[in-house]
Amino acid sequence: MDGEHLQAEIISIGTELLLGEITDTNAAYIAGRLPFLGIDLYWISQVGDNKARIIEILQRAWNRSDIIFITGGLGPTADDVTRESIAEMLGEEMKIDPDLEKTLRERFGRYGFDMPLSNMKQATIIPSAQSIPNPAGTAPGWWVEKDGRTLITMPGPPRELNVVWQETVQPRLEERAESVLVTRTFKTFGYSEGGAGEMVADMLAASNPTLGIYAKPDGIHLRLAVKAESVEEAEEMLAESDRRIREIMAGHIWGVDDDTLEAIVGSLLIKKGLTLAVMEDSHGGNLAPALNDIPESKLFLKGGLLAGTDLSMIAFGVNPDIINNGPGDELACAMAESARNLLGSDIGIGTVGTDEVTRDNPMGTTYIGIADALGSRAVSRPRRRQYVTATILFELRESLLNKSG
Ligand code: AMP
Ligand code: MG
Repeated sequence: MDGEHLQAEIISIGTELLLGEITDTNAAYIAGRLPFLGIDLYWISQVGDNKARIIEILQRAWNRSDIIFITGGLGPTADDVTRESIAEMLGEEMKIDPDLEKTLRERFGRYGFDMPLSNMKQATIIPSAQSIPNPAGTAPGWWVEKDGRTLITMPGPPRELNVVWQETVQPRLEERAESVLVTRTFKTFGYSEGGAGEMVADMLAASNPTLGIYAKPDGIHLRLAVKAESVEEAEEMLAESDRRIREIMAGHIWGVDDDTLEAIVGSLLIKKGLTLAVMEDSHGGNLAPALNDIPESKLFLKGGLLAGTDLSMIAFGVNPDIINNGPGDELACAMAESARNLLGSDIGIGTVGTDEVTRDNPMGTTYIGIADALGSRAVSRPRRRQYVTATILFELRESLLNKSG
């Protein structure tokens, strides 16, 4: 393919897809991985377990694509006809492969079963195909190479697809990739999408690396992507843009790639040997559950208090007079202090919000109190519903970074 990108398509097979009973996560899984392999995806189709229609769509794919990815329909039952359809489309005969049969019988044997006759078709192969091992199930895949085309058929259950993809398909595709795509995502907080876009306008217009801007619940993501012949070359090409983004967005970048705000905050707490307790009202976010989700949370999270009513706030030790004054800096601080006292942590966080719209804050306000041994302080931020948790985490991160220790 003289330097051109390979053109690919995905065909998802299964009547359940067309009945709306399952969502085509397999196609999304595959689609998400192709850019990194220098493969351009042109089409995704779904078709039921019907041989005539599968052959129709396979024939079309064969005529127009370099690589065809197929999932589903490799089961043992009569309704799973993916293999039969591929064989018929290619005019080839399915034969039982003795090695595959042996592997399959052994697999059943390990679980103490005799292999049902219907499973025999999972041990078949056609001359132009090689078998793709499936360590997670009984259905091996087929890797077909013919007439300059590649057709890769993989099992439908997502868990099996993932294993087959990672162990065989991806490594083999990587071997023949002519270009690689390397990406780096900078995760920022405190800008709007438009604001961030203006700051990096010239980079947005460039073509290699390309820069994309995405608004996410944890802030604005800037994603650099570069195409190169090798990962080393790509890294070199990224270096200058990387430096510029870090300079322009200084103080707002909280992480890269797979980083999450909760994990970043968690590791800061662990590094500094500090513990945390949280009290949040029903507008205050989802801080404790988010922190609780990270594996190391036991090392720093003393607990989370949901103060859904005045009564619960009082029970948690917040002064009723302060509660009566309503949401504000004072209440956020009082909640932070009470959480810290009640649960015996180094740091207490109190968050309380209001939907009340003011001229200054057309979206309502989130008040965030942070208490430690030295006292407490509060910040207030516009209350944008989907950003509340990230807002609090970002403030907590700032305060931890400014803390010595
Ligand atoms: P099959 O190999 O077609 O019999 O599929 C077995 C099971 O895998 C189905 O019952 C689904 O639960 C799952 N599955 C099949 N195709 C897909 C798909 N495209 N996306 C997500 N799950 C799938
Ligand atoms: Mg099926």
